[in-house]
This record gives sequence, C-alpha cells and structure tokens, in this order.
Amino acid sequence: MVDTLSSTPPVGAPPRVLVADDDALTRDYIANLLRSHGMDVETADDGQRAIAKVRDGDLDIVLLDIIMPGLDGLDCCRLIKGIVGDGFLPIVLLTARADTDSRVTGLRIGADDYVCKPFDERELLARVNNLLRIKRMHDRINEAKQKLSVVAVQDELTSLYNYRYLHTRLGEEFKRAERYREPLACVMVDIDHFKQVNDRHGHDAGDGILREVAARLIRAVREIDVVARYGGEEFLLVLPRTNFSGALAVAERVWRAVGSEPMSTPSGPKKISISLGVAVYPSRDIKNKDQLLKASDRALHQAKHEGRNRICVFQHQGYMFRPEAG
Ligand code: GH3
Ligand code: MG
Ligand code: MG
Repeated sequence: MVDTLSSTPPVGAPPRVLVADDDALTRDYIANLLRSHGMDVETADDGQRAIAKVRDGDLDIVLLDIIMPGLDGLDCCRLIKGIVGDGFLPIVLLTARADTDSRVTGLRIGADDYVCKPFDERELLARVNNLLRIKRMHDRINEAKQKLSVVAVQDELTSLYNYRYLHTRLGEEFKRAERYREPLACVMVDIDHFKQVNDRHGHDAGDGILREVAARLIRAVREIDVVARYGGEEFLLVLPRTNFSGALAVAERVWRAVGSEPMSTPSGPKKISISLGVAVYPSRDIKNKDQLLKASDRALHQAKHEGRNRICVFQHQGYMFRPEAG
C-alpha cells in the first residue's frame, strides 16, 4: 500500500534528523527507516551526545527516547528548547504506550509530538514529515523576515543605507559621541550637475553613475563609518570618532575617489565631480544630530555656491579669525 503522507519526497536538500535512543536496535531501526525515505540521519546513544549534536547545529528534527541513562529525553528536550531559543527545532518523543505522564510532561515542556513504542512505521513517518513541513515553513518565514529587515534599511538602487536608517543611526552615534565625549563628523556629498548627466546620457546611465559613486564612497571610508543615500544624488557619511582633521582627510579621499577616474556610461567614460560639506561635533553651534546635519548641509551649499567640485567646512556663526600681526 502506498502511503501518500509518509512517501512524500522531501523538497531540496535531505532533511537532517537526529535519533537519540540508548537501545541500539530501536535506534538503528528508526535511522534506517528514515534513511530509506531520503533523510540524512545522525544517531546518538545518550542524552549528552544528543545535546552535543544539537549544538553542532544544522538539524531539522530530533527524535528523543524518553528513557535513557544519564540525561533522559525530557531533560534533553528542555535543554534543546533552551539552546535553539527563538529558532524552531522540532522534537518528537519516543515513549512507551503506557507512559502517559511522561508524554504529557514532554508536551508541556515544549516537545512537538510523540510516538508510542512499539510504533507503527507509517505513523512515525507521517508525524516526522508533518513536523518537517512546519519546520520548512518556519525557516522560509525567517528568511523572508531577514530579507525584509535588510530591505527596510537599504536603498534599493545603491544598496547603501537609506534615509530612514540613517536618521536612526545618526541619533545613536550622536548620543554615543556625547556620552563618551568623542568627536563625530558628518560629510554631506552631492554630485555636481547631475541633472545634465541624466539629460545627456539618459536616466539609466544616471542610475549607473549613482551606483558607481556609492561603491567608491564605500571603498573610501572605514568599516565603522556609515554611508547612506540621503536623497536623489545626495549622500551622507557619518564618521564616528572622527575629529576635524580626520573628517577633512576622509572628505578629500572621497572627493578624489569619485572625481579622479572617469565612470563608464553607454556613451563612453564620463568624469563626475562632487561637492562636500563637512561638520564636526563638538562645536559651539552643534547640540544635536539635526544641527550636525544642518551644519553639513550648509557647508555643502556653500561649496556649491563657491563653484562646486570642492570641500567646504562648517564654521561657527560669527566666527572670526584675526591673524597676529607679525
Ligand atoms: P548641482 O550641481 O547644483 O547639485 O546640480 P544638480 O543637477 O546635480 O542638482 P539638481 O538638484 O538640479 O538635480 C538633481 C538631479 O538628480 C535631478 C534628478 O533627476 C536626478 N536624480 C535624482 N534621483 C535620481 C535617481 O534615482 N536616478 C537618476 N538617474 N537621477 C536621479
Ligand atoms: Mg547635485
Ligand atoms: Mg541635490
């Protein structure tokens, strides 16, 4: 007789199963049965070894005999649920038919199912396959959640951090800088005459240049620095633990990285220049993250105003410098 449930072939890589039973006959019997249904089976002859294999990771389901010397199935179950935390590793308890108390305790402490010994092969396979199906669903949801959390902070075109993430992160970095009395620099970057690039070479070429600028920015800064797309053709660098001269050095490196080598477009190589506005905390006029942002934006506007393709540094309002007569 063909049992449709138990003979359903697993999708993708074979599921990884751990069978823990101190009785060699039962253990090998279950292992061989599951192997003959396409599963990748490991075995353990006591609770301690079972736990070690769970810690090694990568299992999809665990079958635990309740009565084992030393660490028994129920203790094992408790420990495994603790190890996997928020993850999901289904556990099937193997119990004697008469042992209702253990079964109930097992389910209470988080076992996902149980099979009574002596068991019916079809029932064991059906229960294991059911839990594997739920496990696959759980894994898919987790993957989707992870992808979503990346999408939520990432700019789609350039893969840099997006505007929303930038504000959250800048807030955190500002608090850290205040608390530990460390400098924090912000550099706002804007591509010069980018509208012309779009007009002359097309929007797709413009997109390609935005991606290339993003890649060059990333290469020009340290790993702890934050590079975000701030708007259309505007980017922001947040540089933790960076003082005035450090920020200027980074700005200059970025300016060279973008402007020195032409970028390729469908109509040939094209030189791009950028303007940069630098602001650094601590500074008399900068008391919060918004003021730091505003200061770098003002410096950027000044760089544009002065003729573009340059770096401008935010200065205090009313700042005066009078050289010593000499
Ligand atoms: P300036 O030197 O003063 O910065 O001049 P600009 O032309 O770079 O600045 P402006 O603000 O006038 O134009 C920005 C241009 O950036 C216009 C807009 O179409 C383009 N842009 C914004 N976002 C994107 C995008 O995602 N892809 C492309 N291809 N272009 C974009
Ligand atoms: Mg521009
Ligand atoms: Mg702009």
